[in-house]
Amino acid sequence: MDKSFDLKGKRIFVAGHRGMVGSALVRRLAGEDCEIVTVARSELDLLDQAGVRRWMEDRRPDAVIMAAAKVGGILANDSFPVDFLYENLVVQTNVIEAAFRSGVRKLLFLGSSCIYPKLAPQPIPEDALLTGPLEPTNEWYAVAKIAGLKLCQAYRRQYGVNYISAMPTNLYGPGDNFDLDSSHVVPALMRKAHEAKLTGQKTLQVWGSGRPMREFLHVDDAADAFVWLLRNYSGDGQVNVGSGEDVTIAELAGTVVSVVGAGAAIVFDPTKPDGTPRKLMDVSRLFATGWRPKYALRDGLKQTYAWFLEHVEKGDIRLGAV
Ligand code: GDP
Repeated sequence: MDKSFDLKGKRIFVAGHRGMVGSALVRRLAGEDCEIVTVARSELDLLDQAGVRRWMEDRRPDAVIMAAAKVGGILANDSFPVDFLYENLVVQTNVIEAAFRSGVRKLLFLGSSCIYPKLAPQPIPEDALLTGPLEPTNEWYAVAKIAGLKLCQAYRRQYGVNYISAMPTNLYGPGDNFDLDSSHVVPALMRKAHEAKLTGQKTLQVWGSGRPMREFLHVDDAADAFVWLLRNYSGDGQVNVGSGEDVTIAELAGTVVSVVGAGAAIVFDPTKPDGTPRKLMDVSRLFATGWRPKYALRDGLKQTYAWFLEHVEKGDIRLGAV
């Protein structure tokens, strides 16, 4: 199978281009000599199998990046298991199958580090997949993503198409969801710290014990790695995408508070779940190809806070209680 995929003159369909990852991919691909194909949700519902087949036949992209997914933080995952399992299974299956039918030879499927067992060895190598039970708070999402990467492997094996998968660590950055009930930890803490700064609040609530460890990657670095893999990677196994470094949630909270410039003291809320104790990716497979992230965590948080402020100003992000 041809190893490198030249983007020049290609039509690349970014599924999910309005999301945090999809919009970062569109920004990243804008610098390439390729045509970016997107479709509005009002024009095409990815849950509609016949519609997706028709649309793909009509547009005939050369490559597909599957960045459309129902995503959410620890509480959302735990509260809406049907949405996370059913919607992801259907949407990804529709896109992958329709891509194959319409002759797409290169497809990149995006998953998440939560596909790995709760107690996987740290850092987590790609071959830890399916070696143990999943973290219960996000197993619905994880099962859907495992099915997606297996479907890509199945298409490779049965039909010889170059369908690959990348599993990013916890991502953050411009375009993130800042809604406290459904967001991930970085936007949640950023918003809480910002509101604490505005109101002069003395404390900032951090869920759980503060002891879990997480690895974070700025979404622009993730998009750069995805384009790199689309171009250069052809293999059966999924590739981990991360920074290779993790921090405790307590450390993260301290950094966010300092970047935002809030004076609030951090207090932990033990009634909220910790989730998996640690999920640092083993990124040696990716790093061996020469790719590296550009953002250090603090710089990435600063850049994200600037984006957040701009969008609060524009009224796209509405703050409560302030
Ligand atoms: P996870 O990586 O799938 O567990 O997803 P999250 O980003 O939602 O949570 C990561 C860790 O941050 C968990 O241990 C959470 O309990 C912790 N955390 C602390 N404060 C918050 C918060 O305000 N929102 C969220 N989503 N997580 C928080």
